[in-house]
Amino acid sequence: MGESLKDRVALVTGAVGGIGQAISMVLAQEGASVGLNYLVEPDEYAQEFLKEFTEHGYNGRLYKADVSRYQDTTHMIEKVIKDFGKVDILVNNAGITMDKTLKKMAVEQWEKVIAVDLSSVFNCSKALIEHMLDRSYGRIISISSVVGQKGNYGQTNYAAAKAAIIGFTKSLALETAKKGITVNAVAPGFVRTAMTEQMPKDVLQKIVDSVPVGRMAEPWEVARAVLFLADEKSSYMTGQVLSVNGGLYM
Ligand code: NAP
Repeated sequence: MGESLKDRVALVTGAVGGIGQAISMVLAQEGASVGLNYLVEPDEYAQEFLKEFTEHGYNGRLYKADVSRYQDTTHMIEKVIKDFGKVDILVNNAGITMDKTLKKMAVEQWEKVIAVDLSSVFNCSKALIEHMLDRSYGRIISISSVVGQKGNYGQTNYAAAKAAIIGFTKSLALETAKKGITVNAVAPGFVRTAMTEQMPKDVLQKIVDSVPVGRMAEPWEVARAVLFLADEKSSYMTGQVLSVNGGLYM
């Protein structure tokens, strides 16, 4: 176990699955205490993950909340601050896809993806920003996507949300640059998680064939980029988008 995040407290949204799980483990490995947010994952599975987490010697607690809803988010963040005393690192990771071409996309599919993938970033950041400003310290890291940078067939909703995260990140970075807070995004390419498992095998294979590295990413490879940005010493890096895409988009 490292000590680069000793005495730091992180909140990771969508922490009980895929990339969020890897991020939580990597931050905890470096000594951070981690608030583990989840929503629809079965409670037993979340408890099992927490058990595994604590068996590794990591310090974490589960927080069930819908981060697409502002009130739920503020309640969760109040609880995290009460339990751990503070939040130093926010990782906006929760996200969903509801793929359809625009012609076939229902209004609900647009609204739901924007709410979960984009409004959650506003909700968590807004609920924590005063706390971070008061303490003159913060690391805000949001998970965007290569799809937000280059677009993708059948993902107007998802691409719009992920591109908007980049604009949000750059703007908030400007607002907080002199206050000890850094705000950055990580833009993964295609990562082996439940999200990509839903994709048709032939579509996925075509994408993998076009990745210069020749394979999908593993969740821990994205988590490494988050860890870098979460470090106190990454203090001169703000308003940036760190791509972890195997060379898919340069
Ligand atoms: P995943 O395994 O499906 O994880 C998504 C997580 O988001 C789940 O743990 C889910 O938790 C959580 N979540 C969904 N709606 C939520 C809500 N309303 N409130 C709280 N949590 C919610 O997918 P993943 O691949 O790890 O994705 C993680 C992030 O990376 C997402 O933002 C995704 O867009 C982004 N990303 C993924 C890829 C990829 O190829 N996989 C590529 C680029 C970017 P519950 O199951 O408990 O609801």
